[in-house]
Amino acid sequence: MKEQPSQKRPLIYYGGIVVIAMLLLNIFVFPAILQPRVHEATYDQFVKLVDEGKVTHVSYEENMMVFAAADEEGRPVFYKTGVWPWDEKLTQRLLDEGVKFASVIPTQASPLMSFLISFVLPMAFFFLMGRLLMRSLNKKMGGANALQLGKANAKIYIEAQTGKTFQDVAGQDEAKEALWEIVDFLHDPGRYGEIGAKLPKGALLVGPPGTGKTLLAKAVAGEAKVPFFSISGSEFVEMFVGMGAAKVRDLFKQANEKAPCIVFIDEIDTIGKRRDNGGISGGNDEREQTLNQLLSEMDGFDGKKGVVILAATNRPEILDPALLRPGRFDRRIPVELPDLQGRLAILKVHAKHVKMEENLDLTPIARATSGASGAELANIINEAALRAVKMGRKAIAREDLEESVETVIAGYQRKGAVISDQEKKIIAYHEIGHALVAARQKGSAPVTKITIIPRTSGALGYTMQVEEDERVLLSREDAMRRLSTLTGGRAAEELVFGQITSGAANDIEKITRLARAMVTRYGMSSQFDMMALETVSNQYLGGDTALACSPETAARIDQEVKEIIQSAHQMARDILAADQEKLHRLASFLLEKETITGEEFMAILEA
Ligand code: ADP
Ligand code: MG
Ligand code: ZN
Repeated sequence: MKEQPSQKRPLIYYGGIVVIAMLLLNIFVFPAILQPRVHEATYDQFVKLVDEGKVTHVSYEENMMVFAAADEEGRPVFYKTGVWPWDEKLTQRLLDEGVKFASVIPTQASPLMSFLISFVLPMAFFFLMGRLLMRSLNKKMGGANALQLGKANAKIYIEAQTGKTFQDVAGQDEAKEALWEIVDFLHDPGRYGEIGAKLPKGALLVGPPGTGKTLLAKAVAGEAKVPFFSISGSEFVEMFVGMGAAKVRDLFKQANEKAPCIVFIDEIDTIGKRRDNGGISGGNDEREQTLNQLLSEMDGFDGKKGVVILAATNRPEILDPALLRPGRFDRRIPVELPDLQGRLAILKVHAKHVKMEENLDLTPIARATSGASGAELANIINEAALRAVKMGRKAIAREDLEESVETVIAGYQRKGAVISDQEKKIIAYHEIGHALVAARQKGSAPVTKITIIPRTSGALGYTMQVEEDERVLLSREDAMRRLSTLTGGRAAEELVFGQITSGAANDIEKITRLARAMVTRYGMSSQFDMMALETVSNQYLGGDTALACSPETAARIDQEVKEIIQSAHQMARDILAADQEKLHRLASFLLEKETITGEEFMAILEA
């Protein structure tokens, strides 16, 4: 590792301060201390002291007489006084009293003494101060030597006490089982060694954001009771070039010393991105160096020693294939979005930390949140608690939970928004359009709520439908029903007002995405059969797709997508046209109430 010149700066500054301080001390402070005070005395005081036999030394300096006289305790006190040249008897008197005549009275401390005091003492003092300073600096910097900043200061968090255990992770049973095996191995590596079972060196947690990957890793640490080194991928890539690789080296060195232990690299995609082969830009050298170092460290260490590497990512498709080769992250642990049971379990785990009204059933909430991640569910509970406080309640009530589901899904209610009556009317017909088209098609998910209260997310109103049971498959009929339900809002506007608005923008986006997927990915098209025309490039993050076909095919895809949408739209128009009376009644009821429940909706529909 190269020396970082900037690290010498503080030492130079420190030295400078010491030199200046010593000079100041020597000029102003020490002379005052070292020089004994010389008192002024009158001549008659001098004579009196001589008579009393107190004077021990005299000397003559430039019209001045300096003399030393013993005080009560016999210590010498120095005086000076004027000289009376005509006092002829003085010399004889002094001789009689046995006073010593000195050429210079040693009013100064000995040279050795003054050297010690003015030079050695301060040096020793500053040296000690410096040591103390360094030590406290070191402590602040987490043990790294302040003079070796250039060395990789891989911050190592040993989080054996994260306080999290597998009990804090609801659902995710497969992931927990796979991780439990690792924990068990670390507790007793010998048992596995006897049979000759080799554990994977590394396991990769993959799944959408907020599904509990980081939480699972923390729980592993809590369960394992072995040292747990945790670092986030983004921490590797920073500061100076070469630091990342050095950090990796350092991390593995420490891990090897502490084996058995777990190394957890969160968000590994930041360093583990696929390396481009060549390319003019040359890619990101720093990142590549770090990745190469990681790969070689993973190959280098002995799996039997008991170092297990965990990593988490929500973008597994961009990882460099080298990372996934056997002997590296060869085990992949999926951490998927929770199903109904999983959502219920997660809600229950988080409900334990808040006060709920007794006998409050969380199942309807779990049902209404299909597709929500663990993080979102945790957020729903928290929002409900906040709302309960705002409402002055002592515990969370059912309506707090229902409102917070909407808050998390659609944003906060925009209370201040002023919407004209005419626009409100359009929005009401739009929403009833969705609901009515859904309700009139057999097999649609039941409508549970309709509201025209605007949300901060920009939604002016919405219709909530909740599937009766968890669905994992989508039939062509389901897809078509969903499409016509989504077109129902616009269809109602057309039918009632004879004009169309931008209020359907969000619907249009969803419609297009679904219709496209039907053609390009679900094989539900009449022209292409089971031909994959698009690939999903990041399945866990929004699911962006990339076209994988010729331009001619692309044009035909667009044509077919359009036809599918048109037929769904026509279907919605037909349904509403046949049911205009209910449409008007429901819309005016919604306009009056602003929010209506699924039951109220069905009551009017079936009346
Ligand atoms: P990820 O790392 O997958 O993006 P996190 O582990 O950071 O997600 O999860 C964020 C939060 O969501 C957690 O702190 C926890 O409160 C909550 N959470 C997510 N999944 C679960 C789960 N399965 N059980 C309990 N809580 C969960
Ligand atoms: Mg995470
Ligand atoms: Zn709509």
